[in-house]
Amino acid sequence: MLYTAEQLHVSADRALFVDMNSFFASVEQQVAPELRGRPVAVVPFLHDSTSVLAASVEAKQLGISTGTNVAEARRMAPSIKLLRVNAPLYRDYHRRVMGMLDQTRCKVTVKSIDEALLTVPKDLRGNSLELASQIRNNIYEVGDWLGCSIGLGPNMFIAKMATNAMKPNGLVQVLPEELQGFYSTLSLMNLYGVSYRSTKRFKALGIETPLDLYNAPLKYLQNHLGENTGLSWHLRMRGVEVDQKLTHRTSVGHQMTLTPNPATSLEELWPTISQLVAKVSHRLRKSGFSSHRLVCFVRYQDRTHWGKMMNQTQYINDLPTMLRSVKQGFTHLPFTSPVRLVGVSAINLRPTADTSYSLFPEERRAEQITSAIDLITEKFGVGSITTARNLTIAPVADHIGFGNAPDVAQMGY
Ligand SMILES: [Mg+2]
Repeated sequence: MLYTAEQLHVSADRALFVDMNSFFASVEQQVAPELRGRPVAVVPFLHDSTSVLAASVEAKQLGISTGTNVAEARRMAPSIKLLRVNAPLYRDYHRRVMGMLDQTRCKVTVKSIDEALLTVPKDLRGNSLELASQIRNNIYEVGDWLGCSIGLGPNMFIAKMATNAMKPNGLVQVLPEELQGFYSTLSLMNLYGVSYRSTKRFKALGIETPLDLYNAPLKYLQNHLGENTGLSWHLRMRGVEVDQKLTHRTSVGHQMTLTPNPATSLEELWPTISQLVAKVSHRLRKSGFSSHRLVCFVRYQDRTHWGKMMNQTQYINDLPTMLRSVKQGFTHLPFTSPVRLVGVSAINLRPTADTSYSLFPEERRAEQITSAIDLITEKFGVGSITTARNLTIAPVADHIGFGNAPDVAQMGY
């Protein structure tokens, strides 16, 4: 069976999508208040021949957007402030925002450097508008200039498109019974994940608009797009969550008791830790999962605990990246008492093959590079923004403290 009953169930506000507004430029304005209220553009190099990577809300109002040539942008807004891209700064704010989202009771799936999907737990549904405005306020606490658009819908696809319906600072909910009306305001290019090439493919089938796609008979879609892709489109358009693979696996972890002697320094502890990481990494790869968050923890001889979560900018399962991240986590370990037990867990798992979002499986790389993270990687081959390599040298470490035993026990290691 392709989908479980739980997946097929449409719940009006299951998906809450957070899309940061003009993220790179807003972060620049956050750290330099004199830039607020002014058109700002983030550029790869300070030269007229390049193009804008990210425009501030004020610059967008003047018609400047991602891809606008810099000389052209200067003509459109002579007072525009051009800033060279500062990836470590954006990553830092990315981690702060995601860390804040993690404190809600929603399951958080990071979609890009400035976007996240929150799956609202059943008991919070029905109050999700309230939850959304709370999230917006909490993001203002991360940075009072950091706006976001929030979309609520039955699945990620619709919630994401709801964020586009009002920018900046929108909060839009699309209910299942409003879907046809919502689609009638959109073109095929507005559909999340649909590239220009995909629109041509739909048009060849006589599907000119999202409403046509909604109304197309299931059999017709399956005959022309393939059985699974056709079914997915049929369900996705109706609010079924088909883009978030549900997994029962939530963590992979190992721990070791230090016998006969507890450890009193990181040097003593490290050989054990690196063995644990190797095991976790191996098990992740063998089971086909990647992790978004690593947990380092110890139990001291005096029975107290210490733990640290290391958020990743991407789903990972390779040993070098995991080792670097875990090593950084353990550098914060205080030896208040000898360490009796040490452990490493990988949590927030998802199937490795599912780590890049695609609606047509054969079009893994969308033609249109939409996410800023891809934009930077494409333009500069920075790589670091997606490999988490720079996490080890980031000036501000992720720190979501948790110190009691029940929390650690719930990780299910
Ligand atoms: Mg955005």
